[in-house]
Amino acid sequence: MNTPSKVTAQHLQRAAYLYIRQSSLHQVFENTESTERQYALRRRAVALGWAEDRIVVIDHDQGQSGASAIDRAGFQRLVADVGLGKAGIVMGLEVSRLARNCADWHRLLEICGLTHTLILDEDGLYDPGHYNDRLLLGLKGTMSEAELHVLKARLVGGVLNKAQRGELKMPLPIGFIYDEEDRVILDPDQQVQQSLRMFFTTFERVGSAWSTVQTFRREGWKFPKRGQAGSGEVAWQELTHAATLDTLHNPRYAGAFCFGRTRSWKDIDGKQHVQILPRDQWRFLKPDVHSGYLTWDQFLSHEKRLLENQQCQGGARHAGPPREGPSLLQGLVICGKCGRAMTVCYHHRFGRLSPDYLCQKRCIEEAEAACQRIPGAGIDEAVGRLLVQSVTPLTLEVALNVQAEIQTRLAEADRLRRQQLQRAQYEADRARVRYMRVDPNNRLVADTLEAQWNEKLRLLAQAKDDYEAQQRADSAQLTDEQRSKIMALAADFPTLWHSPATADRDRKRMARLLLEDVTLRRDQEIIVQIRFKGGARQELRLPLPKSAWALRKTKPEIIAEIDRLLDSHTEMEVAQLLKERGWHSSAGNPFTQRMVHALRYAYHLKTRLTRLRSQGLLSPEEIGPLIGSVPSRVNYWRLTGVLKAVKTGAGNGYVYYKPSEADIALIHRRRLERTQKKVHNTQASL
Ligand SMILES: [Zn+2]
Repeated sequence: MNTPSKVTAQHLQRAAYLYIRQSSLHQVFENTESTERQYALRRRAVALGWAEDRIVVIDHDQGQSGASAIDRAGFQRLVADVGLGKAGIVMGLEVSRLARNCADWHRLLEICGLTHTLILDEDGLYDPGHYNDRLLLGLKGTMSEAELHVLKARLVGGVLNKAQRGELKMPLPIGFIYDEEDRVILDPDQQVQQSLRMFFTTFERVGSAWSTVQTFRREGWKFPKRGQAGSGEVAWQELTHAATLDTLHNPRYAGAFCFGRTRSWKDIDGKQHVQILPRDQWRFLKPDVHSGYLTWDQFLSHEKRLLENQQCQGGARHAGPPREGPSLLQGLVICGKCGRAMTVCYHHRFGRLSPDYLCQKRCIEEAEAACQRIPGAGIDEAVGRLLVQSVTPLTLEVALNVQAEIQTRLAEADRLRRQQLQRAQYEADRARVRYMRVDPNNRLVADTLEAQWNEKLRLLAQAKDDYEAQQRADSAQLTDEQRSKIMALAADFPTLWHSPATADRDRKRMARLLLEDVTLRRDQEIIVQIRFKGGARQELRLPLPKSAWALRKTKPEIIAEIDRLLDSHTEMEVAQLLKERGWHSSAGNPFTQRMVHALRYAYHLKTRLTRLRSQGLLSPEEIGPLIGSVPSRVNYWRLTGVLKAVKTGAGNGYVYYKPSEADIALIHRRRLERTQKKVHNTQASL
C-alpha cells in the first residue's frame, strides 16, 4: 500500500513541502530530537525523487499551538499552496499533528485529494485520493484530537483537584508571597503591608473607590505593584481606579482561596474572551485559607458598598456616597407609601437649585406613574434645624472622635512616608556598596555603577525633601487650621452647620453621621419621620409648599389696610401712602394706583363712590333739585365754596355733602342778588 509507486512524474514536477512545528516554546528549546526527526523527513523526500532545492520547509509556526489554524501563518500558507496545486507532497512528523483540530485536518485532506497531493509521515506515504488512505488519515486525525482532549482533561483534572483543596499555586496579588513550603504568607516587606492596610482603612473611611484614589493622590502615597504574574521587584506607582477595584474585589485579601472567577472562550475568529462571573458561579471559594488583610465580613461589606455606589445599575440605590448637590437627605430618603428608596432631582426655583424627592423606582421598572414627588427644600431646612437642636449633647464626643481619627491618620501617613524614605536610603547604600566592591580598573562597570549610585543619591535627596515638606504641611495643618476647626465644631455646631463656607457635601456627611433614614409621605401635609442612628425617632409635619401663584399672593394685612384707607382716600392716595410707608407688593415692587385698583377689584372691595354714598353723600343729580338748580350748575356752587364735596377717584367726579338750610338760603340769596344785579346792569345800559 505504501509503495513508492504512488509517486508519479506529475508529483515530482511540483515541490515537496516539509512542515515543521513544535507546539510550545518549551518544546522548541527542549525537544531538539523531534526537530531532528522532522528534518530527517527531508532525506526521505530526496530518496523519493525530489531534488534538494525543490523542498520547501515551512517552520513559521514553531511555538504555536496546533489547536486552531488561526494565527498559524505557516499552516495557512501550506493549505494555500496545496490548494494552488504547487505541492506534490506534504511531509510532517506524524502528519495528523499538522492540525490538532479535526476540521482543519479534514479540510487539508480534502484539498490534498482534489489537487492529487501526497502526504508523507514517518509511518508511510499516503495518497488522499485513494479511499483507504483517506480513511486512515482521517482516523489518525481523530485519534490525534482525542489524544489532545485526554491530555487536557488529565491536566485540568489535576488542577481542579488541587484547587478544590485550596492548594493550587496561583499568581498572588501584591501583598502576598509563597514561602519555601508554598504556603501563602503576607509579604514580609513592611512598606507593602502598611500600604495595603492604609488602602483598606482609607476605603472604609471615604466609602468609594474613586475617593480612595483621590486621597492617595492628594497625600502623595504610592501603591505597590509587582512585575507580571506576581514575580519580580516591587514597583511603587500612582494608585489607579482599576487597581483599586481589583484589590477591593479580590477575595485573597480576606485570606480566601478562589478558583474560576472568570470564564474564557475563543470565538470563531480565534479571539480570546474573558468574562467575570458572579460570586455564586465561582468554581471554588474557600474562606480563611491563609492570613489576610481583612476579615471575610469586611470583604463582604466592601463589596456591598461598591455595589451600592453603582448608581446607574438600577440596583439598590440606597445610601450612595454623598454627592455635590445641595439636597441634604440624598441617599437617606425612603418613600412612606411603598417603602422604596427615593431619588433626588433638582430644578430651579426662584433662581436657586431646589431638590425634589421622587419615588420613581416603579415608574422606571414597570412604566407606571411616579409613586410620589415631594418638594424637598422645606424638608431639608426642617431636618437641618432639628439636627442643630438635637446635636448639642453629642457635639463634644463627635469632635473628639474626629480629632482622634485625624491624628491616627496623620501618624499612619507619616509612617508610610518614612518607610519610603528608608527604602530610598537603603537603595542608595546598596548602590554605594556595589560601587565600592567593583575593581577600579574595570572602568566601564565602575562608571556605570557610579552613575547608578549618583542617581540613587539624587532620589534619596528628593525623597527627604518631599518627606520634610509634607511633615511641615501636616503639623501646620494640625496645629492651626484643623485644631481650630475641631474646637469650633466642639464649641459651636450650629455655626458650622449654617456657615456658608461649609460645603453641601460636608453638611450631608454630618447628616449621615447622625441619621439612619428619613421616611416621607405626602398627604394634606408632608409627614417626615426621622430615624437617628441608635434608634431615636422624631416626626415632623410640614405644610405643603405653596404653588407659585400662591407665593405671589398679596399678604392679607396689606389688603385690609387698603380697605381701611379707601374709606378716606382715593386709590391714588392709597398707593402714595403705602409707598411712603415703604411697603412693597409680593413681587417686590412699590405700589401704584393701577395696582391698588386691581387689588380692590380682585378682592371685591367696595369702590370709593359706594363708600361715600353710604356715608350719605349725594350725587349732583340729587343736589340739583335741593338747591333749585340743574345738575350741571352744581359744580359752580362747589367752586364758589358754598357746597362741600369730595373727589370720588379717577376722573373729575365729586359727591356732595347734603347742604344745610342756611347753605340753601345762601344760594337762593346769591342767586337773587345776581339777578337783581343783572336787571340793574340792563337798565343802566338802556
Ligand atoms: Zn413610593
